[in-house]
Amino acid sequence: MWKNRFFIATEADILEGRASDVYFSRNMDLVRNDKGERMVAEITLSSSEGWVNFTGLEEIINLLEGKDIHMWAIPEGSIVSPRDSQGRPIPFIVLEGNYSDIMVYETSILGFICQSTGISTEATKVYMECYPKTFMSFGIRRMHPGISPMIDRAAYIGGAAGVSGILGGEAIGKDAVGTMPHSVAILMGEEKAWKYIHDHFTAGSRTLLIDTFGDEKIKAIEAAEMFPDIDFIRLDTHSSRRGNFAAIIREVRWELDIRGHQNIKIMVSGGIRREQIKELKDAGAESFGIGTSIASGKTQDFAMDIVQVGEIPLAKKGKYSGKKDVLKCEVCGTTTIVRYGETRKCHERNMESILVKYIENGTVLKREKIDEIRGRSIKSAQKMMSLD
Ligand SMILES: [Zn+2]
Repeated sequence: MWKNRFFIATEADILEGRASDVYFSRNMDLVRNDKGERMVAEITLSSSEGWVNFTGLEEIINLLEGKDIHMWAIPEGSIVSPRDSQGRPIPFIVLEGNYSDIMVYETSILGFICQSTGISTEATKVYMECYPKTFMSFGIRRMHPGISPMIDRAAYIGGAAGVSGILGGEAIGKDAVGTMPHSVAILMGEEKAWKYIHDHFTAGSRTLLIDTFGDEKIKAIEAAEMFPDIDFIRLDTHSSRRGNFAAIIREVRWELDIRGHQNIKIMVSGGIRREQIKELKDAGAESFGIGTSIASGKTQDFAMDIVQVGEIPLAKKGKYSGKKDVLKCEVCGTTTIVRYGETRKCHERNMESILVKYIENGTVLKREKIDEIRGRSIKSAQKMMSLD
């Protein structure tokens, strides 16, 4: 019977394999009583549309630590195509161990990476649209609160300059970012709210929300004349008033500039979709609060499959059997899957494995800092934009 107040699995539920589909545990006794349950399973992406920014691995490392399992994986924050250069699915994660130790967690392992990778992939696409301007992750309110730290972490790795959630901030080891809500302006009056932000918030991020009641242009001028040293004015114009949001931004920019307020930047938020960013950026928006479109980044359909039993390559139809490695040529970027232990040359050099061994017999060999992961992701994104 369900006893919790909220419909979320606890850490204990996940660690005990209770946040899993029932069909594995139902069949477990049959497998356990038989011999030769040592196996290799790999995780590949079923769809092959474009690239993904792979995230969610840290939770899998924490889940499998201490289990009699080896794990290799592509590092988080890697932007990779789900297929090698010959169109074959690449394993993002390779697990070696006993069936009972691995399959009990299949559901949770996939859930960790499917959703997180969906969010970080969308965040990177937003990052590329915004560049060189920045965006903040404002989307946790659109999703279940139980997963808010995961959403903000994935968004940050994908390229968000900051996150709005208190727990998300803790998850990435940064202060959460926020401006002011409309509610403060409603309760205190706009001017009093502006003064409070001006007097109490750290210079560099002082942002006045100016469109609670009045017209964007008139209120932007008012705020700027009253507090000329603030950093941002924020437009969160309601969709029913928006007409042409880019035109509003362009006009506000002009009115601020001719009054000598070139230092005050414009931040925009409110249901902004990736396709709109370029137009708003060109109109003069310098910072974006992006919520729903990132938080609801399309989940990626990773699947886990047995590819080898003992030493024998064996997989269901539709899947490539055998334990594998993923090799990449550092010169031309060609990737290829090979049987584990095999080598290939490209451009007269040995191709290098992009799989890293993270767990050996339950011992965690490697953990990465969040900014190392984000740095990798940003570097790849900039490479795709031909910036480096
Ligand atoms: Zn090459």
